[in-house]
Amino acid sequence: MMSIESNIASIRDRMGLACERSGRELSEVRLMAVSKFHPWQAVQEAAEAGVELFGENRVQEAKLKIPQCPSGLHWHLIGHLQSNKCRDAVHYFEMIQSVDSLSLAEEINTTAKKHSRMMPILLEVNIAGERTKFGYTPETVLADLEKLNALSSLEIHGLMAIPPWTPDPEKVRPLFRKLADLKKRCEELLEAPLPVLSMGMSGDFEVAIEEGATLIRIGTAIFGERAKFNQA
Ligand SMILES: *Cc1c(COP(=O)(O)O)cnc(C)c1O
Repeated sequence: MMSIESNIASIRDRMGLACERSGRELSEVRLMAVSKFHPWQAVQEAAEAGVELFGENRVQEAKLKIPQCPSGLHWHLIGHLQSNKCRDAVHYFEMIQSVDSLSLAEEINTTAKKHSRMMPILLEVNIAGERTKFGYTPETVLADLEKLNALSSLEIHGLMAIPPWTPDPEKVRPLFRKLADLKKRCEELLEAPLPVLSMGMSGDFEVAIEEGATLIRIGTAIFGERAKFNQA
């Protein structure tokens, strides 16, 4: 079993190589450690190895864990949000990456406004059209964009996607490219840049970086396997 620290070092090396291959700067890609189902001690180890950004996919779990972790870390919600958990989500997270409908966005907006906050969000896109996954279809993102952009306490920072798992990451390259293209179309519609393209996980982050990811979300390759029932 490798240590969290050495896992992170090896991921940073691989991030650097993927950047070199694609003519990008390592500073353009943010590493998120996905700590779901791992205890606060694991977060602390990753923080000591220099990771500042963490992702959790359940509000309930995050609410218990975040207060135990070192302060000063950045936390994003990356899992499906139920509207009755919006209050906690706005309280505990700096960004919600998993906004997958206009009604959820409106709910978050109302909550953020009540707490005098601007809430940064990403729009989650179900890029392969999987029936089992949450997320906007590419068409509905474009159709809802103007209404989403008009919500005054939300700031749209970009797009997020979770492509299907495959043992061969080359298979998902076209999906990463599709998400990057969709982000460009959103930018054209909004006439404003969207800085964040959140894509790439343990099995496919190098390909994601080559296709323009600005934020990769790594769980297993940092912390090891989660218990089977924990798969999100
Ligand atoms: C669990 C999870 C990850 C991390 O997956 P790994 O394959 O363990 O790196 C990334 N993004 C989301 C949305 C997740 O739920």
